[in-house]
Amino acid sequence: PQGQESPLLEGLNPQQREAVLYRGSALLIIAGAGSGKTSVLTRRIASLLESREAWPSQILAITFTNKAAAEMRERVKAILGQGADGMWISTFHSSCVRILRREAENAGLSPSFSIYDSADTKVTLKRIIKALDADTLGFTPGNASAKISKLKNELADADSYARNANMSDPQEVMFVEIFRQYTHRLRAANALDFDDLIGETVYLFRAFPKVAALYRRRFRHILVDEYQDTNHAQYSLVREFTRAVEPHLAEEMEATGVHVRNLRDGTGGIPGASLTVVGDSDQSIYAFRGADTRNISEFERDFPGTKVILLEQNYRSTQNILSAANAVIGHNFDRKDKKLWSAGGDGEKIVGYTAYSGHDEAQFVSDEIEVLHRAGMAYRDMAVFYRTNAQTRALEEILVRSAVPYRVVGGTKFYERAEIKDALAYLIAVANPNDELALRRILNTPKRGIGPATETALASFAEANQISFRQAMRDSASLGLGPKVTGAILTLATLLDEAALKLIPENPAGTANVSELLTFLLDGSGLLTLLRNSRDPQDEARAENIEELVAQTKDFNKENPDSGLVDFLTQVSLVAAADDLDDASGTVSLMTLHTAKGLEYEAVFLTGVEEGLLPHQMSANEPGGPAEERRLFYVGITRARQRLYLSLAMTRAQFGDINVAMPSRYLQEIPVDLIDWRQSPGMANSRGGTQPRALNARRDGFGGGFAGRGEPQALPPAPKKKTEWANRVPSQVRDNGDLTLAAGDRIRHVDFGDGRVNQVTGDGTKRIAHVQFDTAGAKKLLIKIAPIEKI
Ligand code: ATP
Ligand code: MG
Repeated sequence: PQGQESPLLEGLNPQQREAVLYRGSALLIIAGAGSGKTSVLTRRIASLLESREAWPSQILAITFTNKAAAEMRERVKAILGQGADGMWISTFHSSCVRILRREAENAGLSPSFSIYDSADTKVTLKRIIKALDADTLGFTPGNASAKISKLKNELADADSYARNANMSDPQEVMFVEIFRQYTHRLRAANALDFDDLIGETVYLFRAFPKVAALYRRRFRHILVDEYQDTNHAQYSLVREFTRAVEPHLAEEMEATGVHVRNLRDGTGGIPGASLTVVGDSDQSIYAFRGADTRNISEFERDFPGTKVILLEQNYRSTQNILSAANAVIGHNFDRKDKKLWSAGGDGEKIVGYTAYSGHDEAQFVSDEIEVLHRAGMAYRDMAVFYRTNAQTRALEEILVRSAVPYRVVGGTKFYERAEIKDALAYLIAVANPNDELALRRILNTPKRGIGPATETALASFAEANQISFRQAMRDSASLGLGPKVTGAILTLATLLDEAALKLIPENPAGTANVSELLTFLLDGSGLLTLLRNSRDPQDEARAENIEELVAQTKDFNKENPDSGLVDFLTQVSLVAAADDLDDASGTVSLMTLHTAKGLEYEAVFLTGVEEGLLPHQMSANEPGGPAEERRLFYVGITRARQRLYLSLAMTRAQFGDINVAMPSRYLQEIPVDLIDWRQSPGMANSRGGTQPRALNARRDGFGGGFAGRGEPQALPPAPKKKTEWANRVPSQVRDNGDLTLAAGDRIRHVDFGDGRVNQVTGDGTKRIAHVQFDTAGAKKLLIKIAPIEKI
């Protein structure tokens, strides 16, 4: 490179720069959290484009979530100052769906195939297990789907499994039968489950070298983020993408007019794409989904000529946070020691907080968020992490009450709501008429007098006559059902057929977009009207959700004027955990530790650092379980830039019980001088507690498991009295209805005592009282639910 250096190298350290500029067939970047792996990957893409070594269409970048993909695309755009249309930056699943829809015919599918989520899989397995009486052998939809998924991640199918199974074991025989029937049912329904998306693409490439050659020719640069969490199927896919195109196939392509000349090498073939992967084995947290860090450790063997680059400087966190992270992960065996360092200074100490209860912990988090916010930190720069979704209940209750704006990332599960699945099933049934699951879902939703016996009769009729369930519905007159039931089935079949006609462009009325189609189906089926007219108050919320879905289809039409029904359904299917269609600005993010991977925040609250939660009790009996949980803790710690809070509760409500919790063993692994411990004022005899109490001095059941290495840690004193605290924490969200408050009013709050209203903002259910409490300071309260009364 001569002359002026590209600005996209600005600020990079020598190793990062090398990683951006290296050109060769395979590059492996291994580095700890926050060392710029994702940044380097992004700049590498920009560098390839800027130097015109690659066209956008020649780049395939794989990220872990759709959100990460969108961010990477934005960043490339920002660096280059222009969009890069034609570039594929997406998750494994999204890339595979795109390929499979295009190549559906070769894969034995129709392009509008359905994508089954885990709930769909379980419903299907439930039917199979029932038909086979397999529950008597201990099979459940849960354990069967877990086993099938695991096998699919290894690229095994029912036949290959059967070849190695002990077929004198009735349980094995039964499992093979379940697996076979499951595969068969999905095929018949023109459906794939999530694991199939990867596996089928691999099979497609292996079975159709000409198809594979087209993609190998197209994608010249493959880049994969978070490589430590790839499983065998994903690894195989990467391999397939990066294989060379044989000379005779290149020849054939050229003969058919595909432009390949400038890509061919001395042999006449097209060399394999260049591959760049970045990863950190210490952040491998998806072993339960088949992720295999051997993909990293054996990378150099798998891709000869690999260049390895290590990054060690961390640009994200303060040294205190990093030292804690290093100390924790240092307790895992079997790892290459790498020490992260930061030039950013020590920063603040980590704050530890011992709460009495989950509510108390939530109150602490909420109060600290307000403290940080008042000190100038934006809500969007703060995040609260937890191990299990159940922990959100207390957090949400308190945050709502304190009027802290927040959103649960990946936890809203909007598309998993029954009424949304119902409405979507109508769309799916139109897109993919073979989808028996969708048809059976809407057969009697809303209620139209078609009972389970009729449903079974239709299914058997379809099977006996080798026709689809949909066709069986059309032919239902010959089933000898009562006239009313037959009429109801035919009406539904006609509605779906009419809707399908609207999609056919040759039909004058056939260019309906997704929202028109959905509206047509909702009107025709009466689904929405029935919910709106229902007396069940829950149905009002359900109707609102469906209206929200209609609004989403309208947005979709606007944003994707050239996309149709199948594109919409694909987008819905692929919304992964860390993805949210909403804009995150201005809110605190709540998410599980798994979802937090790859993200960063100025302040992080890591809650529930207790035995049983972290490590999670389910991990206890699994080999490598506690080590994987430690990596999860490490991932959580290393998300924080400036401020890190570790909190635990001594009692936690779980499954309706109050359990006594013990501090997580991992806390002891953090050097004592890095944490400033505080504890709940509701139970403490010493406020503030900067001087940590010795862990091993405890005799009341909290000290067990802490003897041993390292410095003793701060530890919570015993709860004073359970009842006393329980009384302080209202367990239910109340509804103040239309309590009218105005500036100057005096109020009494259950927790904060008396105070004066300074101002009321917002309207309707979102009215917020800004209150100056006599002793508790200034608070903002959502009037509708705050535990307050006017005095
Ligand atoms: P993780 O392992 O958590 O995925 P990562 O290795 O991918 O982390 P990045 O997210 O790329 O790390 O970078 C962490 C932070 O450091 C980002 O805010 C990024 O902008 C910043 N950063 C990376 N490299 C540099 C640099 N050379 N100078 C300044 N900031 C940098
Ligand atoms: Mg990253």
